[in-house]
Amino acid sequence: MDKNVMTIIGCDSEYEDSKIVIFGAPFDCTTSFRPGTRFASAAIRNESFGIETYSPYQDKDMLDYHFFDSGDLELPFGNPAKALECIEKRTTEIINDRKIPFMIGGEHLVTLGTMRSIVKKYPDIHIIHFDAHTDLRDDYLGVTLSHATVMRRCYDLIGDGRIFQFGIRSGDREEFMWGKDHVNTCKFNFDTLPEVINSLKEKPVYFTLDLDILDPSVFPGTGTPEAGGVTFMELMQAIGQLTKLNIVGLDMNELSPVYDQSGASTALACKLLREILLYMS
Ligand code: MN
Ligand code: MN
Repeated sequence: MDKNVMTIIGCDSEYEDSKIVIFGAPFDCTTSFRPGTRFASAAIRNESFGIETYSPYQDKDMLDYHFFDSGDLELPFGNPAKALECIEKRTTEIINDRKIPFMIGGEHLVTLGTMRSIVKKYPDIHIIHFDAHTDLRDDYLGVTLSHATVMRRCYDLIGDGRIFQFGIRSGDREEFMWGKDHVNTCKFNFDTLPEVINSLKEKPVYFTLDLDILDPSVFPGTGTPEAGGVTFMELMQAIGQLTKLNIVGLDMNELSPVYDQSGASTALACKLLREILLYMS
């Protein structure tokens, strides 16, 4: 008899054998509108058994590869600084073992935790950022650590010209004006992605995927839904192109199962997770 150890479907390999290591960061302390993302990684783990391990898109099966799911971090709610420390520590553990961390948020602020670790090992890191929101505020209601400021805090770590945003369709005027001088923003879609990928070949890249880049009609289960988003297939095609890059770490965030009445958003996240894992294999 085996003990009941729950992993995401197809992610039950041993740590030693796996190049990609998944962990959950169930944290939503600074969410500005509707909280609930702290439940995302557990929901994905549970609902993933509703999808197949085989991808008809790529003709690949998760069972032919090794993926390790290390479960959820235990994060102190109400203390973003401490939570970020825990995330940074886990990321460092993984990258020191020459593996690729794949974090499941959580609200988008969790990305700052992984980036603090990543930038130490890869000082030349560049970020590909898919999102409806710029996340470039310097503070949100006076608070500097927030899911609305996360890309600004990442900018503080790496500087000008190293953040490439896609699908952006929301932010205040100051964010967009500041962004023009410091980051590369592709509004609404992925039009400039091919040229960005060409310019980033050989560079280490961190990929952060805020799922609210998707249109709320296909992905309503998120705290700050924003109309006018991309379709599932547009997102899939964009992610497929990223395989040309040297991705050293990544995350997927902002699924909020409490707003996912039908379960369709969680099912979408599970499917996307499978496709990303297979694209990277
Ligand atoms: Mn975001
Ligand atoms: Mn967003």
